[in-house]
Amino acid sequence: MKIDVLTLFPEMFNGVFGSSILKKAAEKNAVQYNVINFRDFADNKHQTVDDYPYGGGAGMVLKPQPIFDAVDKLCLDNENKPRVILLCPQGKVLTQKISEELAKEEHLIFVCGHYEGYDERIREHVVTDEISIGDYVLTGGELGAMVVIDSVVRLLPGVLGNENSPILDSFSSGLLEHPHYTRPADFRGMNVPEVLLSGNHKKIDEWREKESLKRTFQRRPDLLETYPLTEQQKKWISEWKKNE
Ligand code: SAM
Repeated sequence: MKIDVLTLFPEMFNGVFGSSILKKAAEKNAVQYNVINFRDFADNKHQTVDDYPYGGGAGMVLKPQPIFDAVDKLCLDNENKPRVILLCPQGKVLTQKISEELAKEEHLIFVCGHYEGYDERIREHVVTDEISIGDYVLTGGELGAMVVIDSVVRLLPGVLGNENSPILDSFSSGLLEHPHYTRPADFRGMNVPEVLLSGNHKKIDEWREKESLKRTFQRRPDLLETYPLTEQQKKWISEWKKNE
């Protein structure tokens, strides 16, 4: 996958792309990052990228020209039009499903805003997707782009050591993940559930399924509204409801 990031603060990405799994993903050639300062595309003498809003009001607005030109250049030698993702609090809130869908693409371009907002023509004519990372306002799109990129890159084939692990993650299955324990079995009198020490994989799988469902029921019941529950799972839920 090729990932281009258009930003006014390219240095912010050094730590994230240069560490841990995102760094290893690039070393394994699963992904290629290209961070571009779109100020370099400004066609005016002072390389200005923002201007006052028509109609007045607070804050500055990103001009269309540098972003249009930067995206045009990035698409030049591309037969397939890449997805152009605008980070924006007004966009669709990021979910695992969106990350899974983006992980199937070959080329993504992220546009990170700053200041009050973007000239609306950027949204209308350049951008294919608008993504928010939550219902709060950040100073810029960079942290949002990092969040989206992290969640996408870890899904690319060969990036995570254990190929199965993204499938079991919270949200991938539609439920939150079950609890985990590691050694020692007894830590300061706090014991690991017996079943996990039993070696009985059928029972362990059943325990994990039940705990995953219980956790979702307790913390994110909204996820169960669309989840296809089995008869057994419905029974567990009605027992928990009785005990509430
Ligand atoms: N005035 C804008 C509004 O009310 O929609 C907010 C602008 S915000 C100060 C500056 C930039 O930060 C945005 O253009 C966007 O790129 C980024 N940003 C802010 N909150 C975000 C969020 N929740 N998710 C993704 N990007 C966000």
